[in-house]
Amino acid sequence: MLLEDVMGRQRYPVSCPVCGHLFTASVVRLGVTVGREPDLCPRFRGRAADGARRMRSEITVCPECLFAARESFRDISLLPTTRHDIEERIAADGLLKVFRTSDPSWLPFHAAEVSGKGRNLPARELGELCLRGSWVCRKENEKPFESAFQTRAIRHFIRALDEDDLSGRNVSVTTYLIGELSRRLGQHREAVNWYVNAGKALEESRPEGSTWLGRMIEEQKRLAEKEADAA
Ligand SMILES: [Zn+2]
Repeated sequence: MLLEDVMGRQRYPVSCPVCGHLFTASVVRLGVTVGREPDLCPRFRGRAADGARRMRSEITVCPECLFAARESFRDISLLPTTRHDIEERIAADGLLKVFRTSDPSWLPFHAAEVSGKGRNLPARELGELCLRGSWVCRKENEKPFESAFQTRAIRHFIRALDEDDLSGRNVSVTTYLIGELSRRLGQHREAVNWYVNAGKALEESRPEGSTWLGRMIEEQKRLAEKEADAA
């Protein structure tokens, strides 16, 4: 049963697939977005911190063991060996240990990445978690954490191109994102190469409704070239 409170949060009971803890999870409706930034981060009306709060709520975190995931806990069932692996990864993670009490907005994304590795999630999905973590950090002006998430997203996305069975459109979007995240990290030459590859992938697959992507690849490539010359 879904209950909506005055803050627009929907609350529902769940049990943790790792430790069995019962708790009430809540989702904040994402609300109206007004376009996207070039790394696909949604823009919201209102304060950036509210946007961060909304994005954060798409991850469910068990308050007891810190298992976290983007999908509903009700859809997750785990083998005992997987549960054990997840518990060990969470226990060994330094960031989760240090930041558990202060609970910054990016922590759920990190917890979901650690949990996701234990669940053997595809690299594309791990990268997506890190990308989203970087969006939340930017909305909250957490620059060093934003860069750390971007670096990890790039690593997962490169592995995804290698190992995951991505559809044509997904190949071009993922390649474009590697370029855009590299550019944001100041790696302009690498960024240009990735944009070029993204353009090629797009041409090969020609998915419908991808003109925005083609335009974005061109615009961001020009920007990276300008930044590379200035650097
Ligand atoms: Zn738990």
